[in-house]
Amino acid sequence: MSRYTEAVCRLCRRETATSKTGEKIKLFLKGDRCLSKKCAVERRGTAPGQKTQNTKTRQKISEYGRQLREKQKMRRYYGVLETQFQNYFREAQRVKGQTGATFLQLLERRLDNVVYRLNLAASRAQARQLVTHRHFRVNGRLVNIPSFIVKAGDVISIGETSQKSDLFQAAIETAKARRHPEWLEFSETDNTAKVLALPSREQIDTPVDEQLIVEYYSR
Ligand code: SF4
Repeated sequence: MSRYTEAVCRLCRRETATSKTGEKIKLFLKGDRCLSKKCAVERRGTAPGQKTQNTKTRQKISEYGRQLREKQKMRRYYGVLETQFQNYFREAQRVKGQTGATFLQLLERRLDNVVYRLNLAASRAQARQLVTHRHFRVNGRLVNIPSFIVKAGDVISIGETSQKSDLFQAAIETAKARRHPEWLEFSETDNTAKVLALPSREQIDTPVDEQLIVEYYSR
């Protein structure tokens, strides 16, 4: 499967350069670096290949352009390829209720995202790799599919051997120290996590306007 393999900070710089409000858009693709001063968006918010910000480009963006940029931003935020992204949207359309919120919820329920939200991985890309490398169990059964969708009540655990590794020892300490979303609970006694409920829109802090994406796919 093809994946984006170039410098990922370019993606944040692209979104920041075309942001209508001029705010800094961070996609958090590089773990702790994203929180440091080394973050490329903090150092320079110009578009890739440009040394200075072209404000006219920002003013010229059309409605379609805004919808497209929002779609690309959300897709890159979750690290999902276009076809799979479209499949999530179609699935969300089939469910009763607000399509945008359901769409976002489906992406949030991916196992790689849950591992990232629990702070057991520094980025979604690392979380995806850890899942693929068979480190996690869901309700006691090994799951190595990053796109696995969790349900309310599911219990996520780390494999016994994996737990003893230096990598997971450090990750578990981070998970204990950092806050995670209200819809997830991490037990410090047995290092397992439970999905307490499906996340509501208010509990998802992804900085996207999902309505623009609904409009993009409804054209
Ligand atoms: Fe984006 Fe992280 Fe790179 Fe900053 S460090 S530009 S947030 S990927």
